[in-house]
Amino acid sequence: MKTIVAKFGGTSLASADQFKKVHAIIAGDPARRIVIASAPGKRFAEDEKVTDLLLKCYEDAAAGRPFEPTLESISQRFGEIIDGLNLDFPLAREIASLREHLLDSPDRNYVLSRGEYLNSRILAAFLGFTFVDPEWCVCFDGTGRLDMAMTRRTMTAALRPLQNAVVAGFYGADMSGRIHTLSRGGSDVTGSLVAAAVDADLYENWTDVSGLMAADPHIVEDPKTVKYVSYRELRTLSYMGASVLHTDAVLPVADMDIPINIRNTNRPEDAGTTIVRKLPKGETKYPIIGVAGRVGMSVIQVEKLMVSDESGFTAVMLDMLKNRQIPFEQCLTGIDTVTVVIKSDVLAPYKDELFAEIRDRLKPDYLGLTENLSMIAVIGEKGTDSCDANVRVLQALAKMGMPISTINQGAGKLNLLIGVPEERYEEAIQAIYATIEEDPL
Ligand code: ASP
Repeated sequence: MKTIVAKFGGTSLASADQFKKVHAIIAGDPARRIVIASAPGKRFAEDEKVTDLLLKCYEDAAAGRPFEPTLESISQRFGEIIDGLNLDFPLAREIASLREHLLDSPDRNYVLSRGEYLNSRILAAFLGFTFVDPEWCVCFDGTGRLDMAMTRRTMTAALRPLQNAVVAGFYGADMSGRIHTLSRGGSDVTGSLVAAAVDADLYENWTDVSGLMAADPHIVEDPKTVKYVSYRELRTLSYMGASVLHTDAVLPVADMDIPINIRNTNRPEDAGTTIVRKLPKGETKYPIIGVAGRVGMSVIQVEKLMVSDESGFTAVMLDMLKNRQIPFEQCLTGIDTVTVVIKSDVLAPYKDELFAEIRDRLKPDYLGLTENLSMIAVIGEKGTDSCDANVRVLQALAKMGMPISTINQGAGKLNLLIGVPEERYEEAIQAIYATIEEDPL
């Protein structure tokens, strides 16, 4: 029998009305047997996520400040959902137990996890599914690191006998029973772990947008939704700031070739975006799937005559970064030059000492720093394969007199990375998007 693992994000489960939409989606396909739930998210722009309210409760309790008003808001949020669904649910008992914990010796992860715990129990009761507490099947080691292999085995065993289940997202526990949470947005990761554990045919990730957009809608008006992207392209898109899916959610399902389908709970008729390794037969995708980027970059340029004949020059440069645990975004080497791109806020505390050491150890002929840069990624496994596509993207930038500080495309040909001044970032994105849109490259 086909199995779909369906994860619903916070906005999809923010109110009783949203729960009803989720019910209709689940009822729409019997293959949707395993559901992952987030805590209630925002119902409107100024609303607060329950996880943020829980965090506030914890911080106030830990600091000995009153937390009761915030706990009351949390109780009200769940109360409204339960009443709106006409459910018989022991909310007062659950809130009393949380209050006791907060008064006693509050644990941050435990408190944060209660949003997913309660929402999943409510959803399980509403759907008539079995509630599965990840305390027993999402496994962390003693240091708080997720143990993927153990999780997979335990989760498979926990879910195998069940026809239907709701698993709470975002948390798990170590061998001693201590609760650990994933990073924020981590229910996506739980969903991916569960999909891998049950060898699902599909991992559906239901949210409040109809998939991934080919560009940031704050910069480009009404960008198109991408129908298919590969796992590798998605990694780049997320890395460069497209925040539809948690970055760590790709790995567990990609390993097993399980497609991820991003869907919109408020527009279930939209096909959304499907993330695959290989396109289904008969489907095509644009060679360039989108353009994304980041501002706040710095570029260090080191030049020394005849350095191309010297071995180890770049290694010494990177060693200086490694010793300070400074991650770099790109490293480009040319004849007698080494260029390293680093996030400006990461570089700032080390700038002076790093430059002094570069001067001392590498004795460069020229050492330069360019700040306030942005990095743009033109993403597409096929697109960047063709020289023509690159030329057209660069031509679009040249036409507008855009100064380009770096161009980088590795042999993997996944993206073309272009450095442009921060103050012209949006203009550059718009111009590149127009090239993709008018004439899919
Ligand atoms: N509720 C958690 C958060 O707000 C986890 C999640 O929604 O995935 O980050």
